[in-house]
Amino acid sequence: MTSTADVHDAASEERSPAASSPLAGVRARELAASIGELENLSRFDRDDIAERAELAAATAEHLGRTDLALRARLVQADLLRRRGNVAEAGRRVQEIQRWATEHDSRHLQARSHFVLTAAFQELGDLSLALEHAVRAVELLAEDAGREVRIDHLARLADCLGLSGDVAARERYDDVLQLAEELGDIGRQLLALNNRAYCETVAGAFEEALVWSTKLQHLAARHDVPLRVGQLDTVGRALMELGRLEDAETAMLPGLCPEALDASRDGDAGADFLLTVAEVRRRRGHLDEARTTLDDCVRRCEEHGLTSIRVRARREQAELHAAYGDFRAAYEEHKLYSDELMDLQSAERDARARALQAMYETTEARRQTRRYRELSLRDPLTGLYNRRYVDDHLPGLLDQATAGTTTVTVALLDLDHFKSINDTWSHEVGDRVLRTVAELLQEACSAAGTASFVARMGGEEFLLVLVGGDDDEAAQRLEEVRRSIRTHPWAELTGHLPVTASIGAAGTAGRTDTSPPEVLGRADAHLYLAKRAGRDRVVTDRA
Ligand code: GH3
Ligand code: MG
Ligand code: MG
Repeated sequence: MTSTADVHDAASEERSPAASSPLAGVRARELAASIGELENLSRFDRDDIAERAELAAATAEHLGRTDLALRARLVQADLLRRRGNVAEAGRRVQEIQRWATEHDSRHLQARSHFVLTAAFQELGDLSLALEHAVRAVELLAEDAGREVRIDHLARLADCLGLSGDVAARERYDDVLQLAEELGDIGRQLLALNNRAYCETVAGAFEEALVWSTKLQHLAARHDVPLRVGQLDTVGRALMELGRLEDAETAMLPGLCPEALDASRDGDAGADFLLTVAEVRRRRGHLDEARTTLDDCVRRCEEHGLTSIRVRARREQAELHAAYGDFRAAYEEHKLYSDELMDLQSAERDARARALQAMYETTEARRQTRRYRELSLRDPLTGLYNRRYVDDHLPGLLDQATAGTTTVTVALLDLDHFKSINDTWSHEVGDRVLRTVAELLQEACSAAGTASFVARMGGEEFLLVLVGGDDDEAAQRLEEVRRSIRTHPWAELTGHLPVTASIGAAGTAGRTDTSPPEVLGRADAHLYLAKRAGRDRVVTDRA
């Protein structure tokens, strides 16, 4: 039942003191299993999920397992979306997604994209929904649970289907096959229903009927009652094909109160009744149609279902006309038109506000990241700046102190740089600095991904080489020095050579590895290099 994705998630490495006992380890595993189950169930409308998700989130937080807590919070946000608060749900999911991205938690990223797909679907932005659906599938780990995989693929199919893309059919085929292999009747029914519904939206009613018939047969074979939403899909396909009697027969099982009340906010029930009323009117069973329509309207008013209430007015107008009361039909139709316009503009406003809020969150985050990134860069050379060094060097040196890696820190200062500025110009000096920055960047890329170079100010740079021993570092620094000295500078500086002095300090086999100690040693070595005649490297050994 459970996804094993969390086992491999980088984010699950995070632990709080509460999580350090062996007992806590067992509890965390059980908790992960139970959250995986909640994720699987969240595809279906079930009463107990909200409560279980809250409990799981609280437990995970107590154990210091932010990754698990957020998975449970995501299930809650999805429920919130289903209950109609799409904007707030979307905002929460985006927060969770940010954490997931920062902590490299793929499963949580995939799940956030999955929930965002539904949110944007509901807000009518199908292209954004599709983007999220694609990411939700891409980010899912190979070993994610099969239920979750089916759900992500199915939502992608829904997005394609709702946008009228024929590629949806192939996707639904895949989804159905996976659900069949798993023997998961609930998910097969979901896929069949959504496929039939998409065909209805596309106006392909024959095709819709094929799939809704399969839906009926599968349900009958397994003795599972179809839900009113599913019966509605079947009924509509038949009605649109003019098979009114069949439509009514097919929908009969939904007319009992238990079926009608099964959907929590009552909207599926009201929608269903509206279709039944239409079928009955078209069949000429006007009194029955009126009773059904009255039921539908009562339900709308009870649950505040504005949009179905408005559509019911159109049906009411049709019904008046069928009775021959054209005056009432006209009045009702006018009410329908007015309310429809109000409704549409209210819906448009609400959608726009919700979308705006969600886009703003995305945009603000992008900007913040950009500013943060900018604030860590030196504008002249594009290299990292001193702030970046202050942020990152202590962590690296901690690792070195703990013995998990080795670090060599080298200060590099250009020799007689002042004379370049004085002889040529400040601009030429700037170009020399940029060229040196490129040479250093190259050397650093060759030294491994964790290594970096920064400009500390003026004509002084810092190279941080991660991994490798003292000899390797010394050799690399010697190459750096040589690459600067031998660069063809003449076109820029004429007869003036460009050289650098380098002072280095390593952590291998030492205890004086705090940032001030290491930087102090490197600086002392730089001073020695200058005093010994410049254009040279001084390390711990020299
Ligand atoms: P030494 O070999 O002892 O390091 O001599 P030096 O001339 O390199 O050292 P000094 O510290 O006397 O001079 C550094 C010069 O770097 C002074 C300053 O004008 C120049 N400088 C600092 N920042 C920049 C910059 O951003 N652009 C340019 N073009 N020059 C800069
Ligand atoms: Mg200097
Ligand atoms: Mg200098």
